[in-house]
Formats: sequence, structure tokens, C-alpha cells
Amino acid sequence: MAAQLFDGQALAKAMRKEIDAEIAAFKEEYHITPTIAVVRAGEDPASVSYAGAIQRSFEARGLGFQMHALPEDISEADFLAQVTRLNQDSAIHGIMIQEPIPKGIRSEVITEALSPLKDIDGVHPVNAGRLAQAAPTGRPPEVFDFFVPATPAGGLEILKRYNIPIAGQHAVIVGRSRIVGKPMALLLLRENATVTLCHSRTRDLAAICRQADIICAAVGQPRLIRAEMVRPGAAVIDFGVNFVDDKMVGDVDFDGVQAVAGWITPVPGGTGPMTNIMLLRNVLEAARRQLSS
Ligand code: NDP
Repeated sequence: MAAQLFDGQALAKAMRKEIDAEIAAFKEEYHITPTIAVVRAGEDPASVSYAGAIQRSFEARGLGFQMHALPEDISEADFLAQVTRLNQDSAIHGIMIQEPIPKGIRSEVITEALSPLKDIDGVHPVNAGRLAQAAPTGRPPEVFDFFVPATPAGGLEILKRYNIPIAGQHAVIVGRSRIVGKPMALLLLRENATVTLCHSRTRDLAAICRQADIICAAVGQPRLIRAEMVRPGAAVIDFGVNFVDDKMVGDVDFDGVQAVAGWITPVPGGTGPMTNIMLLRNVLEAARRQLSS
């Protein structure tokens, strides 16, 4: 039997209504517009296009959007000065630094310069560290107020909203980037899954994937996860965005895997729309925390 679809598009549409209500309530209470500042150096086409998508979604919801496009040959000191200005600007509630950061600028220096309170991408060591330290759900929380990168947060939201069991399940995450794979592993661990985190040096990826109740692919290699790597009935979350002959495909071989899996995200229309929603949420939450701190 073919897998059921995790319809990220439909879920995002439903969640937009929830967010609209939250934004309206927030504006009524505080009389300010939660605003994101996106910072980019250079004109990388994928970054330009992603910034455009963020702008459209923020403006459509009545949230503020500022683009800070810096020259590609900007010095690290000038880049840092821009981040500091945004940290200090009380009209900005969330800051997103777009990759790629030009050669010669240390991305860790820029990341650490961000105010953790405005780091809506969850990349500052304070936020990433707090996620790593967070207690499993069901235990008293010792660590509060951190941001989780929007893409894995969206993946978890899909699993939860479709009532996929997580606690006690074996989740295999393929890819360990700081923005997708690693935080996804930590989120699922927090939800009491048994987590295996795979990467380019993992031996016999297929055998490990076949043990998974939940597979999350965040690799950047078209159709790496094939049907023979998937246990019948598994839930498959595909974060991959790749282009093959101008067609967008994920890291999962959708046509093959859907015949075996129990649930699967399509690409496009799966995790992508949810990333956008979680980013809106993070900015709203950042504004809330800044006003109450
Ligand atoms: P990175 O390139 O930062 O990380 C890729 C990861 O995959 C690395 O950990 C790497 O291992 C691992 N890897 C590479 N080849 C293999 C292999 N053959 N077997 C197992 N693991 C492998 O990518 P990102 O995490 O930034 O992005 C992953 C994908 O998600 C991309 O397609 C990207 O476009 C997409 N993406 C989607 C978003 C969305 O909203 N849906 C948002 C952000 C990204 P190692 O660490 O050993 O090098």
C-alpha cells in the first residue's frame, strides 16, 4: 500500500491561521510589529530567492521585514558592526544571517556576535547549547528560552500534528549539520526517541536506516534514501532540496520509497512550507521575550 502523505502545504495553511490570530493578539497587546532583519553579503541566487520568500510571507502576515544586503567584499569588522547595530535596534526582533558568508569572514565569529535573544535561527551557541541541554519532555525543565532552527522545528511539528508516535521509537537522522540534522536529532531525543545520527562516514547506512521507525534525511544528495533502505511502514521526513534537470527533488527517492513507507513528505510541499511557518513563530516569540525581559 502506498504511503500516506505528510502534506506540509496543507499543514502550513492551517497553521498560518493560528499564527495570524497570535499576531493579532500580540499587536493588540503591545502595539508593535514583530520584525525580522535578514543579513546577506553578496548576491548568491539561492539566498536572494529565499530572502524573497521570507519577505513575502512576513509581509503577508503583517510582520516587518528588513533586508540588509551587504557587499560581497565587506570586511569582517564591518559585518560585525552591522550585526551589532541590529542587536541594539529595538525595532528589530529577529536576525537571520544568510549563508554563504563570504570567504575571509569567520562564520562562527558572526554567529557568536548575534544577540541570543534575536537569534531566531537558533545558531548562537547559547541557543544550540540550551537545546542540547534541554530535559526530555515529561521531566522538569532546567533550561528555558532557547530558539530551535526553523527547519527541524517544522519537521518535528509535522510528526506531532500527524500523531506519529515518537517516544521509544528508533529515529535515524541522516546528516549532522548544525541547522538541520543535529538539532533534529536533539529534538527527537528530547521527545524520547532512540536516536541514531548518521553522516558521510557512517558505515552501512542502508542497514541502519532499515532499523528506523522514523527516518529524517538532511543530506543534500538527490534520492540518496532508496526503497530498500526503508522498513515497511516507517515515517519518512525529507528535508532535502536538490535540483535534477531543473526539477526539485529531495534526498529521498520519493517514487520508490512511497511504496514501502507508512508516511512520507513530498518534495516540494513537505518540510519547506513548514520551515517558513516556524520562522514566523520564532520571530513572534522573540518579540514576546524581548518585551517581557
Ligand atoms: P550540509 O551540507 O550542511 O550537511 C549535509 C550532511 O549530510 C552532513 O552532515 C554530511 O556528513 C551528510 N552527508 C553527506 N553525504 C552523505 C552520505 N552519502 N551519507 C550520509 N550522510 C551524508 O546540508 P544542510 O543540513 O544544510 O542541508 C541538507 C539538505 O536540506 C539540503 O538539501 C538543503 O538544501 C536542505 N535544506 C532544506 C531546508 C528546508 O526548509 N526543507 C532548509 C535548510 C536546508 P558530514 O558531516 O560527514 O560531512
